[in-house]
Amino acid sequence: MDKSADPCTDFYQYACGGWIASNTIPADRPSWGTGEMLAERNRIVLRDILDKAADATANRSAVEQKIGDYYYACMDEKTVNARGYDAIKPELERIGALADKAAIRDEVPRLHLQGDDAFFEFGSETDLKDSNSRIAAADQGGLGLPDRDFYLNKDARSEQIRKSYVEHIGKMLGLIGESADAATADAKAVLAFETKLAEHSLDRVSRRDPDKIYHKIAVTELATRCPFFRWPEFFAAVGAPKIETLNVDYPDFFTGLNAAIESASVPDLKAYLRWRVVNNEASQLSDPFVEEHFNLYSRTLRGVRELSPRWKRCVDSVNFALGDALGQKYVDVTFGAEGKQRTLDMVLAIEKVMKGNIDTLDWMTPATKKEALVKLEAIANRIGYPDKWRDYSTVRVARDDFAGNWERANMFEVKRDFDKIGKPVDRSEWPFSTPTVNAGYSPDENSINFPAGILQPPLYSNTSDDAANFGAGGAIIGHELTHGFDDEGRKFDAHGNLRDWWTKEDADEFQKRAKCLIDEYSKFEAVPGQHVNGELTLGENTADLGGLRIAFEALMEDLKGKERKTIDGFTPEQRFFLSYGQAWCHMQKPQMTGMLLRTDPHSPPRFRTNGVVQNMPEFQKAFACSAGKPMVAAPACHIW
Ligand SMILES: [Zn+2]
Repeated sequence: MDKSADPCTDFYQYACGGWIASNTIPADRPSWGTGEMLAERNRIVLRDILDKAADATANRSAVEQKIGDYYYACMDEKTVNARGYDAIKPELERIGALADKAAIRDEVPRLHLQGDDAFFEFGSETDLKDSNSRIAAADQGGLGLPDRDFYLNKDARSEQIRKSYVEHIGKMLGLIGESADAATADAKAVLAFETKLAEHSLDRVSRRDPDKIYHKIAVTELATRCPFFRWPEFFAAVGAPKIETLNVDYPDFFTGLNAAIESASVPDLKAYLRWRVVNNEASQLSDPFVEEHFNLYSRTLRGVRELSPRWKRCVDSVNFALGDALGQKYVDVTFGAEGKQRTLDMVLAIEKVMKGNIDTLDWMTPATKKEALVKLEAIANRIGYPDKWRDYSTVRVARDDFAGNWERANMFEVKRDFDKIGKPVDRSEWPFSTPTVNAGYSPDENSINFPAGILQPPLYSNTSDDAANFGAGGAIIGHELTHGFDDEGRKFDAHGNLRDWWTKEDADEFQKRAKCLIDEYSKFEAVPGQHVNGELTLGENTADLGGLRIAFEALMEDLKGKERKTIDGFTPEQRFFLSYGQAWCHMQKPQMTGMLLRTDPHSPPRFRTNGVVQNMPEFQKAFACSAGKPMVAAPACHIW
């Protein structure tokens, strides 16, 4: 804390100022804060598990063999470096031999099966209007930069990033044997081609509206828009079942994609594919590839100074490739059945408050309230870890083949995804691996998901007092819960089907209140000259505000009849808000902030704290803030 700061002037500084003054961003990170500290601690636990599992002389279970040998192969830097880029040579040779556009087309399914979404995205998804079935889905994609805006924006920083991007592509193509002149020319051609795809991609604010990304159309219609890919042949080549209709998130993209491919030359398209292959696999190749990949994606785009030590990258790689196998071992040592039960109790307490809250809401019509309560009742609470673990027995993991292991694990996931097309939805699947520091609401399943990785101190601890647990972990639970009822969630019903259950009157009232938040957050300047996008972040800001209010009420319920203890001079109410603020203690490289302002629907942590508490009379009462102070918003925004 920074006790010299006034909590009513800048609560974030008051709660986190001491932490910020005594911490620095590690050289291998773009940012540092509570979430990162948690992730770092998880990595150390995971390393311990993996070190033990990597011992081939020990008596290992099948799961331990997979994760242990994967980790061993990744850590074996000597072998990885000796192999250079051998792993992608066969694919590069195939691309080199492609004689015409027809041959290029026939190569694309193979790339998709390897997890390289060349030209567009394809996979399975839950049908937004029939949440029991998985359907095929094709979407915009094919870009090497994180968002279409990086290709289209005219500001100096975007220009600079594009320049660095072309240099980077040139260097990567040089590493796979192209002459400097050829690599430079190819890099420019790749940027030009991807820019055309970007021009036909839908922006992120629009993509928040599920109606704008749901277009279930006949394959014949997709073929009319984009005849280049012979779709039935593509589906057959990737092993998908016969498909007659699919969701094409944004159909105009495919019209643009077709034109872009038609007007590009065969050598330019081949350069694009070579770039895709080397970019996709860079992290599994020898040091020059890893370092150059880091140079663009971490140093330039995120402001990171140094590559992480190899063991951290290898832990992350195991978690990415074999997350459910690693997760099984992780929960054994960190969470257990007790953690699951106690967290579930907190979830139920918060859901109960949400129910009362909906009952008494002044702006929602009675008919809509009824639907909201049905939806709340139907939410599936997933806490800690899945009931069923993914079975990796068919993934071959070799002790001396890091790139091969990564490829096989990748292909296993792609195949698993394609295999779901045309089948009922499997609701036992989780969106995150267990050790992940994240939480989420899935609108198409009406479920909230809290992997064990995030249910750790200081966000949640069996030994913390209730005020601290509700202020941090409870606020996250409340946050995820309200997502079911915000401007996106309202479009999905209790079964997860895309069906707007609000009346126009409700929508108008919500919009009025949402406008308050859009205006408030749009004024926040995150880095000099760059403001928060109040529209892109609306859903998350709404969830932050609603989540904290509900968690606060749940704490008040919880404390009824209990002794109200003052700890370290702070009342339970003050400790609740301090715990919330400190859950967001954070610092970030300006490059990273600049990138996230365009791509992340969450506001920067400082505003996730101050933007919320300034709208809460409960906060102002707890810290005796008088009107006119910065942490007393006028008007105060209030939705949930
Ligand atoms: Zn959220």
